[in-house]
Amino acid sequence: MSIGKHIVTAALAFALLAAPAVAARAALEVVATIPELAAIAREVGGAKVRVTSIAQPNQDYHRVEARPSDVARLSKADLFVRVGMDFDQWADALLGAARNKRVSPGGPGYVDASARIKRLEVPTERISGASGDIHAQGNPHYYYDPGCGKVIAHNILLGLRRVSPGDAATFDANYQRFVAAIDAAMPRWQRAMAACKGTPVVTYHKNWVYFMNRFGVREFATLEPKPGIPPSPAYLRRLIDSMKREKVKAMVVETIYPKRFPEFVARETGARLEWAPYSIGVLGTQDYLSFVDRIVQAFQRACQ
Ligand SMILES: [Zn+2]
Repeated sequence: MSIGKHIVTAALAFALLAAPAVAARAALEVVATIPELAAIAREVGGAKVRVTSIAQPNQDYHRVEARPSDVARLSKADLFVRVGMDFDQWADALLGAARNKRVSPGGPGYVDASARIKRLEVPTERISGASGDIHAQGNPHYYYDPGCGKVIAHNILLGLRRVSPGDAATFDANYQRFVAAIDAAMPRWQRAMAACKGTPVVTYHKNWVYFMNRFGVREFATLEPKPGIPPSPAYLRRLIDSMKREKVKAMVVETIYPKRFPEFVARETGARLEWAPYSIGVLGTQDYLSFVDRIVQAFQRACQ
């Protein structure tokens, strides 16, 4: 009798001890559309989350082919984080197929990271598909700017607090730490980017509009005549002529793009061409801060 009672007590005690441990181990499932949002979600979620990205590093984020495993992951997700501004529209079909109300628009686990971002390059007239422009709601590449990185982190923080209010204090502390790390790095980035202040720079796609705006860099032109449209020989010739005329000497291009166009233009103009990462995970970058560091380094070298 007393042995039996002991077993029950022991089992009960074990159950009481085990239950919180199990709950603590069950991380929240976070699915982000691109690696940069995933990296920031990892910062804010810390040990409480398991984060995956649908787009892989150096996959053109404008055109992502979804995999069946993405639907499975979304169907179990607690939080979904997207760029918004019609950029990652390819995720809508996945969301529909996943049938997970929690992470669908209006659900507690749905995070549009563009909320409260001050949009740049919003078209004043309606863009027709024929123009080839793929930035119909304004420039969606705000995630390259570390100032916007803090806004993204805050949007993710609000989402995490909604889906797991019990962990709010942990998320708040992680968020504060991430913001403090960006604030601490900003003077270093500003100093390095001083070499580029007011300097005209040629890029490939309009990825760094927010980033360049932050650091006072002037975008002279892009190798693409319009976002998503590769350059024609005639366009390149005009670009080379105008770079020579205006004495433009700096080019920064992400390694994802065809090398032949920027290399040709650099050869013809004598401009200094530097390569930068398109995604976290490329060129030795591992997290958001090292990613910004690497982009800053490329601009600094190009502007020397
Ligand atoms: Zn774009």
